[in-house]
Amino acid sequence: MTTEQSHDALEGQFERAQKDYADLAARGLSLDLTRGKPAPEQLDLSEALLGLPGDTHTAADGTDVRNYGGLQGLPELREIFAGVLQTPVGQLLALGNSSLELMHDSIVHALLGVLPGSERRWVDEERIAFLCPVPGYDRHFALCERFGIEMIPVAMTPEGPDMDEVERLAAADPAVKGIWCVPKYSNPDGVSYSDETVARLAAMPTAAPDFRIFWDNAYAAHHLTDEPVEIADVLAACADSGNPDRVFVFGSSSKITFAGSGVAFFGSSPANVKWLLANNSKRSIGPDKVNQLRHAQFLRDEAGVRAHMDRQRDLLRPKFDAVQRILEAELGGTGLATWTEPKGGYFVTLRVQDGCAKEVVRRASEAGIVLTPAGATHPYGDDPDDATIRIAPSYPGQEDLEQAMHGLTVCVRLVGIEKQLKG
Ligand code: PMP
Repeated sequence: MTTEQSHDALEGQFERAQKDYADLAARGLSLDLTRGKPAPEQLDLSEALLGLPGDTHTAADGTDVRNYGGLQGLPELREIFAGVLQTPVGQLLALGNSSLELMHDSIVHALLGVLPGSERRWVDEERIAFLCPVPGYDRHFALCERFGIEMIPVAMTPEGPDMDEVERLAAADPAVKGIWCVPKYSNPDGVSYSDETVARLAAMPTAAPDFRIFWDNAYAAHHLTDEPVEIADVLAACADSGNPDRVFVFGSSSKITFAGSGVAFFGSSPANVKWLLANNSKRSIGPDKVNQLRHAQFLRDEAGVRAHMDRQRDLLRPKFDAVQRILEAELGGTGLATWTEPKGGYFVTLRVQDGCAKEVVRRASEAGIVLTPAGATHPYGDDPDDATIRIAPSYPGQEDLEQAMHGLTVCVRLVGIEKQLKG
């Protein structure tokens, strides 16, 4: 094709995209693909929790769960999640309903108290920075902003964060106190960390003696395929490397049972667990053990969690399949976008041409399809390539999701082809 012919072809594609967009806008849709919330049918799977703990209020060790106390959380529930979160039960705490809250509190305690291995409180440091693998989870970045923690982006690779870069930054700068990690089915690109990544994180020299890995294993049991991904045991790796206090493990049942009324967990070295318990003892006389008991009754054991997650998968899988099918049908081979095909978790990352993400999100919004703001996947809301869009397929019904995805592909074509014409 001559340049002129290919320009004409592009013009034709643009006209078609404009017409498709006008049709889309005329439909007056109101669809939301923003947050990774479970759909009502997923919550229904745990409806039996509402009738529990039934006519008992006694835990396995005789604890009356109605009363104060039990800062570590109920042993029978910790037992169930010890395997899921790869943490010995004696080093695992079952706490409130939100792991994000635990990450928040861990930062606050590190700011206002002295961490094991620390020379001083983080507030007394001139500067504090966290390494932020990108794309990443916007609420992690919001915590850093909230507490004035500088964010240093590090690129993700198919094996986890770019470890050459992580090692270089952690070794060079004592202000670098931590790294955010979503090690399995990462939010938003679905990446799971390789064994080598985990080993290097555990063993790398850090300039800060109190460096912490914030290991947010939010999607530990959230598989979408028959080949569940297993990741290396980070706590063991840290201990084996002589850095036993390096990692805080977080997890929750938010996307297993009820997103708003699950149970959150904290796992770490004995010294860190003692540190958190001492801090927690000032802010609470004990967690919600009634909720913990009913979770233990409902889930029963680790196999119970896995069986429950299979039922979640049955509901989620058709949605993730539809996302792939529609992206492939509408954008496959066009060069306008690439996307991830996650084996678990809650998100698909769509990468459009550089400089197009904000405009795609704006066009979609004008046509009644709300997406997570472009840039949210990067520190300070700034995606330097303006190319990453996070898709959260879980919440909408199947038909709404498919409509929203079709609409999104129209916007990607419209914005992408226009850019090519101008370029
Ligand atoms: N971490 C990640 C990576 C998440 O995606 C989410 C939920 N979107 C959370 C934490 C929130 O967890 P929780 O409900 O336990 O606060």
